[in-house]
Amino acid sequence: MKYLILFVLLFIVWAYLKKSLKDGTMKDKKLVSCSQCGTYLPQEDAKKEINWGKTNYFCSDECEKKYVESGEQ
Ligand SMILES: [Zn+2]
Repeated sequence: MKYLILFVLLFIVWAYLKKSLKDGTMKDKKLVSCSQCGTYLPQEDAKKEINWGKTNYFCSDECEKKYVESGEQ
């Protein structure tokens, strides 16, 4: 009986840790918006470009190209 309580307690702790770990990884998925079209996408999927100390994110090569072209005018 003593061991059963211990087992249940361990299970609760394990379930709690698993949940908090999952929440933590969800928070790490930071969304950024495309500098060209404004589409939100996960930072890890975005194309990153640092220009004059400012970080720009793009959803695609097309948007990056458009942004660079519009910046040249
Ligand atoms: Zn875009």
